[in-house]
Amino acid sequence: MLTLQDLTHHYQSLTPQGNALTLSFSLSVEQGDIVALIGPSGAGKSTLLAMVAGFLAPDNGKLTINHQAIHQQSPAERPLSMLFQEHNLFPHLTVSENIGLGIHPGLTLSQSDKEAIVVAAARVGIQPYLDRLPEQLSGGQKQRVALARCLVRQRPLLLLDEPFSALDPALRKEMLELVRSLAQEQGTTVVMVTHSPDDVRKIANKCAFIAKGQVRVFGETAKVLDNPQDEALKHYLGL
Ligand code: ADP
Ligand code: MG
Repeated sequence: MLTLQDLTHHYQSLTPQGNALTLSFSLSVEQGDIVALIGPSGAGKSTLLAMVAGFLAPDNGKLTINHQAIHQQSPAERPLSMLFQEHNLFPHLTVSENIGLGIHPGLTLSQSDKEAIVVAAARVGIQPYLDRLPEQLSGGQKQRVALARCLVRQRPLLLLDEPFSALDPALRKEMLELVRSLAQEQGTTVVMVTHSPDDVRKIANKCAFIAKGQVRVFGETAKVLDNPQDEALKHYLGL
């Protein structure tokens, strides 16, 4: 469903003394997979997602979704939605409007669009708050709004970059289960960055270990986590 073939980005160094950095990823994701990306801070997980989403241009390599090369498409045109750890919502717009942005960036919404917003809000449990501003919501509720905005887009691929790291464990578990059941209902393929091996086991059927700008290990979650052979992965897991 999603393939990255030596998808490469060169970062110029931020300081005169610093080294330029090259990251290059290969990965093949099947339709309906829930793939967790794990790995040390600075390994390149966000860079990988940013290239798939179209926020960052690759310098080399190939990216396809459903067998189509998508490098010409802007982020909005790509058949995907993305959810970040924070800063997902516009503070001056209501919950309903924030969700509506997923359908139309200018908020030109038909009656059926408005109905879709209510359905998505109900599905993630925030229907009572549709007229509130983000500042009147808890952190967990804000992430539900952001998830509802992904839902109304009905795109086949969902990218999540540490989406629930700021939430407490019980809430995080609830949100992960919500993502898993939504993905199952809609047949959505999911790629999610997370720092918690427990979260990986709860939600992901596949797991990729990213280190130093490469996918070093990729496979079934249990195989990757239970009997790691790669030294860097063992170190990352604290084994
Ligand atoms: P992760 O999400 O795994 O923590 P990132 O993809 O954010 O890692 O970053 C990967 C590497 O690229 C890091 O070493 C980081 O310092 C470097 N990097 C990220 N953004 C930039 C940038 N804009 N310019 C230069 N280097 C960057
Ligand atoms: Mg990151």
